[in-house]
Amino acid sequence: MIDLKRNSKKEPVKATGLRTRVSSSYSPNQKEDFKISRGRFSNFLTCKRCFYLDRVKGLDPPGTPGWTLNETTDLLLKKEFDYCRERQIPHRLFLENDLSHLVPFDHPEMDNWRNSLHKGLMLRHKDTNIILTGGVDDIWQHKITKQLIVVDYKSQAKLGRVDKKDYLDDPYHEGYKIQMDFYAYLLKGMGFDVYKTSYFLVCNAKRDDDEFNKRMNFDEYLVPYNWNSDWIANKIDEMISLMNNEQIPEPNPSCKNCAYSEQYARLVCNSVKDNREQVQGNLF
Ligand code: SF4
Repeated sequence: MIDLKRNSKKEPVKATGLRTRVSSSYSPNQKEDFKISRGRFSNFLTCKRCFYLDRVKGLDPPGTPGWTLNETTDLLLKKEFDYCRERQIPHRLFLENDLSHLVPFDHPEMDNWRNSLHKGLMLRHKDTNIILTGGVDDIWQHKITKQLIVVDYKSQAKLGRVDKKDYLDDPYHEGYKIQMDFYAYLLKGMGFDVYKTSYFLVCNAKRDDDEFNKRMNFDEYLVPYNWNSDWIANKIDEMISLMNNEQIPEPNPSCKNCAYSEQYARLVCNSVKDNREQVQGNLF
């Protein structure tokens, strides 16, 4: 997609391809603390090269526009759950799903833990300088055992009913499960007792309604997922050793962005070399 760099007045400005804040990049073997978010860890799992170029070399990849409709369902759900949190009463969905023994978890840090941009759950990885962070959507609590339940809100618009098994088996949802594993890992590391089942609260917009009429209707589903965080510590060790390495790793061969860049470079460079075509602008 085409992503233009803009200043605070929304005017287009020169894009350099590099981040301006030096502190947002990691220098191999640095001693100062460095934060790695859940999203960056997912990037590491998807493509080690992109993760390395971003975190260590300071490249500024093109962004994607905000998901404002999805964010709105999150925002409204947050209001509903906060109402129940303040009063320590079960949310309507708990009653509908035989989960009346749950309440939204009430903790003074809850707003910070949900702030994925600036705070989130935080955990130092072993005795390293790496601080892992993750902004969780919600945490619920078992009223008797006091165990915590990790929750992630998901919005989508698919025809038909959501089948819970298909939802979890969908290869496009692999990253969702990693997200849950990671949040559970952080909470456990922070000293909390985390219940083995987490929930995706899936809001599915109904595409077969007859009209819009200023309203979009949703079905709601609670999709239980038994998280597993056993694999995470080793992957984080692997990620740190990559960050302390001076070698740029292999790309992901399935990535369309890299394939596009390669074709772009080939086309434009060859045109310049052969002088067959005129290329405007300073490209390399
Ligand atoms: S393969 Fe894709 S994700 Fe990896 S470095 Fe290239 S553009 Fe980035």
